[in-house]
Amino acid sequence: MEDTPIFPDPPVVTVERTLAIIKPDAVHRADEVMEDIKSLEFSILNQRRLRLTPEQASDFYAEHYGKMFFPSLIAYMQSADIIALVLAKRDAIQEWRDLLGPTNAVRAKQEAPDSLRAKYGHDQTRNGLHGSDSYHTAEREIRFMFSESITEPIYHGQDATDYLQSKVNPVLTKALTHLSKQKPEDPLTWLAQWLLDNNPNKPKVTEVDP
Ligand code: GDP
Ligand code: MG
Repeated sequence: MEDTPIFPDPPVVTVERTLAIIKPDAVHRADEVMEDIKSLEFSILNQRRLRLTPEQASDFYAEHYGKMFFPSLIAYMQSADIIALVLAKRDAIQEWRDLLGPTNAVRAKQEAPDSLRAKYGHDQTRNGLHGSDSYHTAEREIRFMFSESITEPIYHGQDATDYLQSKVNPVLTKALTHLSKQKPEDPLTWLAQWLLDNNPNKPKVTEVDP
């Protein structure tokens, strides 16, 4: 007989990734930026220091091609090393953008003095830090900076819900149902063992006659 689940589905917690860049004008303060990032409780999943060629800088900022500020932006971005960072947290993309403050660092200093661009930036172009502006931009920019690493997308939104509902929740619910009947002394060790014993993806051991 199938056990009736007695626990509701667990809430879906979606961790996002975003691409941050410590730009040329802030790279000499990289240690301080990293301290800020950690104290804001972002996880740093990947990081690299690199120098963009003008072509790479133009590709990265292709959406701004043709704008008045494009040449100065490219000159700035290839003028020195940068540090690219993959940050992860719940709602990382929007939270990091909010922490950066206005694009123009002069405005940031006036209107959002606690923002990171107020702290690390200098002017309209040299604004210290970058942050992806959407989920799709983040995925593109992470691939751009970390093309050699395997960057499987973290499941997001409905995909995350579907994944958990199809692959995780049924087994977990069954495990928790058994757990609440058994009431073991050490529930987590019991749960870990139950999951090992009942993992539906475990290869089946079949007896073979000699
Ligand atoms: P972001 O997403 O906040 O970084 O801003 P944008 O995507 O609009 O612009 C990309 C980068 O170009 C900014 O971070 C600045 O370095 C630079 N930039 C943007 N707008 C201007 C502008 O109006 N003038 C100048 N000089 N630079 C700009
Ligand atoms: Mg942008």
